[in-house]
Amino acid sequence: QKAEWEKLKNEATVTADGKHFDIAANIGTPDDLQGVVDNGAEGIGLYRTEFLYMQSEELPSEDDQFEAYKKVVEGMNGKPVVVRTMDIGGDKHLPYLPLPEEMNPFLGYRAIRISLDRQEIFRTQLRALLRASAFGKLRIMFPMIGTVQEFRDAKKIFEEEKAKLVEKGVKVSDEIQLGMMMEVPAAAILADQFAKEVDFFSIGTNDLIQYTMAADRGNEHVSYLYQPYNPSILRLVKHVIESAHKEGKWAGMCGEAAGDNIMVPLLLGMGLDEYSMSATSVLRVRSLMKKLSTADLKELAERAVTESVTNEDNKKLVESYINK
Ligand code: PEP
Ligand code: MG
Repeated sequence: QKAEWEKLKNEATVTADGKHFDIAANIGTPDDLQGVVDNGAEGIGLYRTEFLYMQSEELPSEDDQFEAYKKVVEGMNGKPVVVRTMDIGGDKHLPYLPLPEEMNPFLGYRAIRISLDRQEIFRTQLRALLRASAFGKLRIMFPMIGTVQEFRDAKKIFEEEKAKLVEKGVKVSDEIQLGMMMEVPAAAILADQFAKEVDFFSIGTNDLIQYTMAADRGNEHVSYLYQPYNPSILRLVKHVIESAHKEGKWAGMCGEAAGDNIMVPLLLGMGLDEYSMSATSVLRVRSLMKKLSTADLKELAERAVTESVTNEDNKKLVESYINK
């Protein structure tokens, strides 16, 4: 099987009925680039920049960040790189950035909430990203967006930093897409409104499932509630994808579910455009997609959201389709 997958390394991802989709990789540091290239990913769909902050003794400087981002976009040779602004808080802490003790850290001060509050940190990161944008195809997304106002505020700060750099004669790309993680249920429900203002969505199922099911993603006692195929989750996912398409935008997924053998057929049926996963999953999923036909899957996905009741129902639905 491995040998069969290996042959797909330099191929585009095309389904049995000739539709093209993008399979991208998730990375945490520039050191992960080699794995991405070795596995033939068609881009980077999630660069988790918080690792840069976690590996450092103090807040990483603008130049240090610039070097890291530049290395990644250059290393991808013109393929798209979606960089997520830092997602600190929740379960990720920085020794040099004291955060308040919280009863519910996942519901607390994290990600874009910190960035909009501690703007000096956010602006430094955005300047580093803007400078790196001159060296490749860089896209930026914001984590944990829950309201349209948060997205507008983040975008405004981005535009301000961009204008200042341009004013100074610094070279920045004029084609940076600005998107958001879809991982807060409130945002997913309101995806039709968000879609008018963003360039793209990337669905973060790890958090979207945690928040929708009200089940801590790290708590083994409630891990049975991690249910990617639950129709409640699939309805949200479908709404997000359709909302994006209505406005001519693209939708991807960068949570664990994007590389899942049961989930992929459903996502293809819903028309998800981009699938971002660990580099080691890229060839397995490309091989799976080659065998699937989107026309059939549309109907399968429709049944999954309208007829199925449980996570298990949908698991069986897809399995019986695949084994047919
Ligand atoms: C997610 O929430 O699905 C996601 C991709 O982000 P993270 O796992 O870093 O929270
Ligand atoms: Mg997340």
